[in-house]
Amino acid sequence: MAENEKKLETERGGISVDVEHIFPIIKKWLYSEKEIFLREIVSNACDAVTKLRRLVSLGEARDLTEADPRIRVILDKDAKTITVTDNGIGMTEEELRKYICQIALSGALEFIEKYESKDGGAEDSGIIGHFGLGFYSAFMVSERVELLTRSYTGAPMLHWDCTEDGDYEIEEADDSDGLVGDYGTAVIMHVSSEGEEFLSAYKLREVLDKYCAFMPVEIYFEDTAEEEKDGDKKDEPKPVNDVHPLWQKNPSECTDEEYRDFYRKVFHDYKEPLFWIHLRADYPLNFKGILYFPRIGNEYESLEGQVKLFYNQVFVAENIKEVIPEYLLMLKGVLDCPELPLNVSRSYLQNSAYVSKISTHIVKKVSDKLTGMFSTDRPAYEKIWRDLKTFVEYGCMRDRKFYDRVKGAILCELCDGKFVTVDEYLEAAKEKHEGKIYYATDKTVQSKYISLFAAEGIDVVLFDKIVDTQFITTVETADPDKKVKFIRVDAEVGDALSDGEGEKNEEVEKIFREIVGEKTKITFEKLKNAGTPAILNISEESRRLDDLMKLYAMGGEDMPGMASVEETLILNSGNALIGKIGTLAGTDRELAAKIAGHVYKLSLISQRQLTGEELCAFLDDSYALLEKL
Ligand code: ADP
Repeated sequence: MAENEKKLETERGGISVDVEHIFPIIKKWLYSEKEIFLREIVSNACDAVTKLRRLVSLGEARDLTEADPRIRVILDKDAKTITVTDNGIGMTEEELRKYICQIALSGALEFIEKYESKDGGAEDSGIIGHFGLGFYSAFMVSERVELLTRSYTGAPMLHWDCTEDGDYEIEEADDSDGLVGDYGTAVIMHVSSEGEEFLSAYKLREVLDKYCAFMPVEIYFEDTAEEEKDGDKKDEPKPVNDVHPLWQKNPSECTDEEYRDFYRKVFHDYKEPLFWIHLRADYPLNFKGILYFPRIGNEYESLEGQVKLFYNQVFVAENIKEVIPEYLLMLKGVLDCPELPLNVSRSYLQNSAYVSKISTHIVKKVSDKLTGMFSTDRPAYEKIWRDLKTFVEYGCMRDRKFYDRVKGAILCELCDGKFVTVDEYLEAAKEKHEGKIYYATDKTVQSKYISLFAAEGIDVVLFDKIVDTQFITTVETADPDKKVKFIRVDAEVGDALSDGEGEKNEEVEKIFREIVGEKTKITFEKLKNAGTPAILNISEESRRLDDLMKLYAMGGEDMPGMASVEETLILNSGNALIGKIGTLAGTDRELAAKIAGHVYKLSLISQRQLTGEELCAFLDDSYALLEKL
């Protein structure tokens, strides 16, 4: 200190009324997320530096560039302290009293009234900072907190020393440890037994990495134990954070390599992302971010996204579904929203018009990117479609607006590996069948049906994921005017496969009726494919209902469906074998029944996998039939 006489006598006081209430509550409230204290103290330090920079740029403070702005986080395990220093704006005596000694007053009373009666509240733990109590979170891990501060205005250095009960002392001090230079603040936290886990360099680095990795002022971590061990051979210290995160840059200045590096570093995902969107919304939304579409390893892994929310480069939370629609949480990315308070409660987010505008903006940007890629580079888009599909379809199911925006860019994969849009499919098929899209859910099991359609030159779409079958309902209902209907290949023969109703043979019908029982409908058709004697159809509607019920029940593997599925056995009146059954009906009814039974089983095999019992019976019948040859 320049003039060594103290102007202020040591003074004792107690933080006003609410103190005895506030301290236990702070501890209780933030209990499950104690680590937040470090974010609060370091971000206060960052703010102090930023404020000073602003004052300098406004010409209100002299240029203090001799010392680079920096924050130090010092762990002293022996002394059981964690110290955070900054060379920021510092505080005068008046400011110290106002901001540190009285800060709790209004905010804290409001806080107590609102939350004291409630238990737990871990999820809403961010609430403290909302009332401007961030500094006090230091007491979650400390039994005593000291503060050394010297304002940039050149006011004397002050020492504030506060116990966990809220009793403090203020005195003028000198900076014998050199923690604060000409200006700035040091917060010395004397760690209590409750905060012991933070007396570990590993733990502190982990917490710094989580919350402070992109804070705008360089942060240096120092472990006094390490320093003693290393002696002289010290490397040039490196900051633990990146003060210029990629999302803050202008997209035109970022290279693909930088985007990929950033992705790898932040999400530890070594699979390359498919593509990314650099978001920059100006006033009034005023937020920035980068969203990555991850490459999907397998169907299940893909649903685990990670979107990190920042407030001016300070990490706030992950996967906040109020800010970003739930289906976009499958993506990985960062969003920096300086308009949101650093600590926000869920109910604030849910009711905020600003938040819903952010969400709408993001949905628009994501849709624009998809439709843009579709129209500018279709081959590349088709290549990544399989990875995109689950996400896009799920998004369409959750959000009609999203569907409306991207519907033109939704692809359907055909069984032969080509890709078409719904409109392209309908356009190509309009001569043969109108408004219908035939699809298969299993290329192997349904191969007979697929080949029947292929023989008539009709494309079959492959929808083999669980989400697909729910997605088609979205498409059907979203555009009622279009009257598009998805029909599984085993649901109808329609005009596509049949030349119309076939001649009915009552005897043949009787024989089949005995085999299939009363529940199955029997019809005669003139199938275009003469070689096929019979096809089993399952009505689309009843099957979908059945699938849905199975999905809800999800109990046992062999859960039978609960809805009754309407089954129709279509006999091909133009087929030789059916003709033969007709002839045999009058002469050798037993043989006719055996052949009919076999024909039915064959149609069953081409529709689904037989049960064990059915398979045994089928094999025995086959042997018996072959013997007759
Ligand atoms: P908030 O940051 O939400 O206002 P805090 O309790 O964290 O609430 O801090 C209260 C005030 O104390 C800050 O607004 C700031 O004016 C002052 N303050 C805290 N830490 C520092 C610091 N390192 N340097 C300068 N001022 C600080």
